[in-house]
Amino acid sequence: MPQEIKTITFPMQAGIINMGVTNCYLLKAADSYLLIDTAFANKRAELVKELDSAGCRPGNLKLIVITHADLDHTGNGAYLRQNYGAKIGIHRYEAGVIENGDSSLSRRKRPLHERILGGIILGVLSLFFRFGNFERFSADVCVDDGDDLSAYGFDGKVIHLPGHSRGSIGILTSAGDLFCGDLLWNMSKPGAHSIVDDATEMRASIQRLKSLGIKTIYPGHGQPFSMDSFLENYQPR
Ligand SMILES: [Zn+2]
Repeated sequence: MPQEIKTITFPMQAGIINMGVTNCYLLKAADSYLLIDTAFANKRAELVKELDSAGCRPGNLKLIVITHADLDHTGNGAYLRQNYGAKIGIHRYEAGVIENGDSSLSRRKRPLHERILGGIILGVLSLFFRFGNFERFSADVCVDDGDDLSAYGFDGKVIHLPGHSRGSIGILTSAGDLFCGDLLWNMSKPGAHSIVDDATEMRASIQRLKSLGIKTIYPGHGQPFSMDSFLENYQPR
């Protein structure tokens, strides 16, 4: 079941503040499309243009899989679901976040001062980057570890990869391509994402990757990289 992968990259730059890039991935199999993640709401026009140029239009976008429910991955979920007729798949631990817009719902309860600090940081970043207003939506399918996307015509299996958030998932193809969400990223070099909800779960998720025959990793942030280059750099925390 050959399928094409299109990487859609959005730079996150406001003045001198550079937050790297956010990625979505568009998979094409036969005449159908699968979108992995949806970027910030403020990237909507660019995302629609990229989808259009790939031939992805209302009616042939079959499924959107959201790796986890942070704003940089969910911002256009409501729009695409409504305007393209695509179904939304997300892990059940993240489903409450897209319904309520509260990302703490997929994370452990933190002390008050940490939550306040997190809110302030997000508020300041929002001022600079104008992420766009989050529009709530709901899942059509709750996906979980082992689910096979061949039911939708795509080559890929869902892997539960908690650590960055409780319901973080990846998609692994039979060719060894892993779309890993924010478990790993590639900022200055391939590594584990620096925002960790549960370090034990994160280490276990990364450990699990080693047995899955992964060749190339497509992260939520930064350029794709080989599994080997990640393992060369990886220092468990
Ligand atoms: Zn992210």
